[in-house]
Amino acid sequence: MSIGHAGSEGGGALRPRGDLGYQKNMESLHEEPCLASEEAALAHLLEHCWPGGRSFCPRCGGGRLYALSAGRWRCAGCKYTFHPFSGRWINNGNLTPLTWLRLLHLYAGEATVHTLAAELGLSYNAAYKAVTTARFAILAHAPDARQLLGPETGLGGYLKGKKLTGEPRGGGGQVPIPVFGILERNGWVFIDLVSGLSAETVFHFNHNFHLRIERSGNLVHTAPYRHYDALVLCGDDSLPYEYIRRRADGQAEPKSEFWKFAGGRLRAFKGVSPQRFPLYLKELEFRFNHRRENLFATLVRYLCDMVPDVPEMDEAR
Ligand SMILES: [Zn+2]
Repeated sequence: MSIGHAGSEGGGALRPRGDLGYQKNMESLHEEPCLASEEAALAHLLEHCWPGGRSFCPRCGGGRLYALSAGRWRCAGCKYTFHPFSGRWINNGNLTPLTWLRLLHLYAGEATVHTLAAELGLSYNAAYKAVTTARFAILAHAPDARQLLGPETGLGGYLKGKKLTGEPRGGGGQVPIPVFGILERNGWVFIDLVSGLSAETVFHFNHNFHLRIERSGNLVHTAPYRHYDALVLCGDDSLPYEYIRRRADGQAEPKSEFWKFAGGRLRAFKGVSPQRFPLYLKELEFRFNHRRENLFATLVRYLCDMVPDVPEMDEAR
């Protein structure tokens, strides 16, 4: 099919409202040679996974490998049998190489899951799972990935044997609602998980120390707090929202470039669960900090990287 021309004329149906930057991305679609065919896509992914064709065992790092049938390999050292994408983010979702690359290209341009599914002929669930994989891969490349995949968010519980599962291990348990601090300096944004600060404490600051709070659905953000431009959290029905004290002296909108970029996008996350909220926040951090780069190339690189080992979850239970 002629991917190269998709959306180049009119293409209104491919540009849903709110998909900022999508149009620009569609017009550059033909500039990516790896999107020309399944073969080109596979070659592109293999080159990212195995630069220069160099092979090693993903489990022990050993270099003595035997070729098996169907493109698989076995390690002479630890006997692990693997294929080129074993242990990597891209090994989730059973998409073909070309479908993966087209999906990442559209996602780089902020296409919605509905648009992705329609454009690529996938079910909504398949497209959602692939986008979730991309979000995990983004989060795993953040400097604070280890903390975010640890017990404070419970996100690491979605990983089992380097594969993403729909349900966290142990059903998710009682993970506290994490509070994030947004800090923008010199055109870069840092979204930190603020350890030891609970949603209830933020409400307490609001009630007793006049920290201004704005709420939109389950999404809560504050006026500047300590060195942060804002605190932000995504609650659930367990939170005492009625406790929030409204103040008449204007809105608690942080005056930062990031907030201009992210405010509307954040409000679109109203339906996100507290458990998955960090994925969406780190996506925004990534998009903002890489806003002048080719996001598609970076996403392909991230997806081809190995899934990291996650910290043990048990002590949080
Ligand atoms: Zn090995």
